[in-house]
Amino acid sequence: VGIEELKKILSKPAFDQVVLSDRIREKNKTLFGEDLTAAQIVDKIVKGIREDGDKAVIDFTKLIDGVEFSAENLEVSEAEFMEAESLVDSKILASIRKAIDNVRSYHVEQKPRSWITYREHGSMLGQSCIPLDRVGIYVPGGTASYPSSVIMNAVPASVAGVKEIIMAVPPAKDGKVNPYVLVAAREAGVDRVFKIGGAQAIAAFAFGTETVPRVDKITGPGNIFVTLAKKAVYGHCDIDMLAGPSEILIIADESADPAYIAADMLSQAEHDVLASSIVITNSIDLAEKVETEVKTQLTALPRQEIAAASIEKNGLLIVADDLMQAMELANLSAPEHLEILTREPFTLLPYVRHAGAVFLGAYSPEPLGDYFAGPNHVLPTGGTARFYSVLNVETFMKRTSIISYTAPALAEVKDDIIRLAEAEGLEAHANAIRMRG
Ligand code: NAD
Repeated sequence: VGIEELKKILSKPAFDQVVLSDRIREKNKTLFGEDLTAAQIVDKIVKGIREDGDKAVIDFTKLIDGVEFSAENLEVSEAEFMEAESLVDSKILASIRKAIDNVRSYHVEQKPRSWITYREHGSMLGQSCIPLDRVGIYVPGGTASYPSSVIMNAVPASVAGVKEIIMAVPPAKDGKVNPYVLVAAREAGVDRVFKIGGAQAIAAFAFGTETVPRVDKITGPGNIFVTLAKKAVYGHCDIDMLAGPSEILIIADESADPAYIAADMLSQAEHDVLASSIVITNSIDLAEKVETEVKTQLTALPRQEIAAASIEKNGLLIVADDLMQAMELANLSAPEHLEILTREPFTLLPYVRHAGAVFLGAYSPEPLGDYFAGPNHVLPTGGTARFYSVLNVETFMKRTSIISYTAPALAEVKDDIIRLAEAEGLEAHANAIRMRG
């Protein structure tokens, strides 16, 4: 395709209404007795939980997840945590602990500081950074389990100093939660865990139920029902971002190893049929080799079917005129993950305008960031890196301004303030200043 057409493809609209697959629509017709859009389903769930609390959570969990709970066992009990601890492999636990340490030490660097400046006549101005009281983190659990998502949400919240971190994760068919998810929650500082999935969890967090306390902010990734529910409850509490399917964009020159590029594309494609993997290179030769490598490596993957469908539907190999044009196209795409596999990756870094996270050089593949290096893996997708940031410590904090003037400091500026208040026709504002002489 021509460059203009390519630019259109890459600068896809930000998060938009997703059309459900036929399989899910059929399933939903059986579940809800009518052909509803994802947004209509979410509205129904959110309204139900807002009005009926635990009862609606229990009913929807039975209907959608096929698990029957009473209000007493919606929350993970101490006995369930102990069972999880007895089931985990000690080597995996050690790796979880190392990952938590890395994520914590990285996020400690981000912590914003409160500050005060002293001005003339003894006046003071400043800003307090205050952690949120209670946050709800959503950890997906429909088709896979993600202890790494527990870590990436809970650790920055804990570094921020959030008073209470509660978590929701969908129950498996037997009503249990993956033991690694539970152990990671304990290790990363989560206070309470609820076995609730999808829009039900988001509504319970936003409005509170008899069992689930209301939160001030909801963070974490999830499927379309989770994302639309976050959109629906925004304003009743805050949310981190609206996240869609995962993406990788790789800029590579002839020095890059096609096997590495193919492996990194597939690591994204195995997530989800909707995930996208794009390579932009200035070398036709490399593009051809990558294509062959992807086909070879695909055959050995256990999640081959998902990865193949994702590559087929959303995979792109683009040959650009040069690396600067590659960079321009990458910025248009605003990818969640941007890998730069060129001879001198740092020379392109100053031109990165829109990307969730940047991985530089052959030895910084995306899974390093997904699990271990320390930066957060909850990243903006669907072109929203134009305006969203990666999840970070400040996501869990608020800023409050501090103003303290003395009589002489106020006297010096009073005429200006009175003039501005009068210009807006707000006489009472002007009076509040006049009264103080
Ligand atoms: P999920 O936990 O987001 O969703 C499962 C829940 O969705 C279920 O418990 C159920 O209540 C609800 N649900 C399922 N089908 C429904 C239906 N037909 N109607 C109403 N509700 C329904 O888990 P998932 O589905 O596996 O999706 C997880 C997503 O999160 C994937 O897209 C994955 O790629 C993404 N993810 C992103 C990150 C990240 O950091 N960006 C990390 C991990 C996972």
